[in-house]
Amino acid sequence: MASLALDCASWDDGVRALPVTPSLSDDVIDRRVRAYDFQAPVDLHALVADVADLLAHGTLHATHPRYFGLFNPSVRAAGVIGDAVAAVFNPQVGAFWHAPAANAIERAALDFFASRAGFDPRSSTAIFTTGGSEANSVAVLTALTRRFPAFADGGARALDRRPVFYASEDAHDSLMKIAHATGIGRSAVRRVGVDARRRLDVGALAAAIARDRAADEEPFLVVGTAGTTGYGAIDPLPAIADLCAAEGLAFHVDAAWGGYALLSDRLRGFLRGIERADSITWDAHKTLPVPMGAGMFLARASRATAEAFHVSTSYVPDAVSGGVDLYQHSPQWSRRFIGLKVFLTLAELGAAGIADLVDRQTAVAALLRDELARAGWTIRSDTPLALVCFSHPELEPSRERVPRLLRGLEARGDAWLSEVRVPAGGSLLRACVTSHKTNEDDVRALARALDRELASLRR
Ligand SMILES: *Cc1c(COP(=O)(O)O)cnc(C)c1O
Repeated sequence: MASLALDCASWDDGVRALPVTPSLSDDVIDRRVRAYDFQAPVDLHALVADVADLLAHGTLHATHPRYFGLFNPSVRAAGVIGDAVAAVFNPQVGAFWHAPAANAIERAALDFFASRAGFDPRSSTAIFTTGGSEANSVAVLTALTRRFPAFADGGARALDRRPVFYASEDAHDSLMKIAHATGIGRSAVRRVGVDARRRLDVGALAAAIARDRAADEEPFLVVGTAGTTGYGAIDPLPAIADLCAAEGLAFHVDAAWGGYALLSDRLRGFLRGIERADSITWDAHKTLPVPMGAGMFLARASRATAEAFHVSTSYVPDAVSGGVDLYQHSPQWSRRFIGLKVFLTLAELGAAGIADLVDRQTAVAALLRDELARAGWTIRSDTPLALVCFSHPELEPSRERVPRLLRGLEARGDAWLSEVRVPAGGSLLRACVTSHKTNEDDVRALARALDRELASLRR
């Protein structure tokens, strides 16, 4: 079976030699995929080779060191092997008695993250999720169920007043889908304004809570973001924790990406206050070099999710004593062994090795900030995390110029970065160092490529 696998060991070098952006057109991709009509059987060796080739030339390469994009990390062998070994054994992690070793492995990895977040692993709750969006949804459902006991059986209509919760205008938009799915409705998410550094404005939050209470609505939760997706801003967590305590509201911190600061002794101080949260979202798949599908939900209380997800069946054997059946504590039922890739990565690198990866990424981003500033670009974000939002005086007169510059860059394929639209109109360029392999040369190459594209806009 091993001979069928991609040569993962050489992929690091292999991806560097490829353009970051796909070179095959959508038409060609479609034709090659549709050549498989699932009628006659196909030799597996040839099939895997063909599909790997298709992916190599038909993918925006998130694992490329010059992908300065959204939070999709490069992967290391430990994570890839973890995913493959999990698939081979295919343990059913949803029930403890079915997979005690897999459950123990996940617990050990989760305990590490809970400790870094300031929770006591012996008395807190931690589960792996498919990603940050699922973890946020566990947070909202858990807070709703805790605050409104009638909600579990009767739903939103059983409540006298409408539940509402708060997050900054830059908070992750998964919260909108979650409000929709829980039945409290998208307008139950009150988007609070931000300060000049794009952090949630706590004064505006207090005013919004007072206004909603006066209007007979029922505030139940505040979501602070530690590392916003667009700008990397870290909301003032201690002040939000104080306000939540005074107002009797649950406090959730969405640290889906920014959580990785907790792994570095140099950066963890920027997330001070996170240890006062009731719950935390933290994606291992944005934080560590592991393949996607590894989010985490952490909560300070023990059995925090039991009320929201308990169920009784006639067909699943009862829990064994001492074991936690995850299908009773999370939205998933049959459940993949998510944690192995994370466990192997933690164990192989050790805490110091992981802190090193985080520190290196932030140092490379700091170099990018310096290079851009020196070349006349304007830095428009203010974050200690590995992200830079920026613009240029020559781009600002027209909204067309940032998208045009990005299209030029995409066509050449020597680097990829994203844009973030600003509320007042127009957009900024946004570069995030997501790969542990991105080095100083990559950053300088990006700065050169940006200068080249800027010059070509002048023509
Ligand atoms: C990415 C992100 C999410 C969603 O996480 P997924 O793993 O993509 O589901 C939630 N919150 C923030 C702040 C994010 O950056």
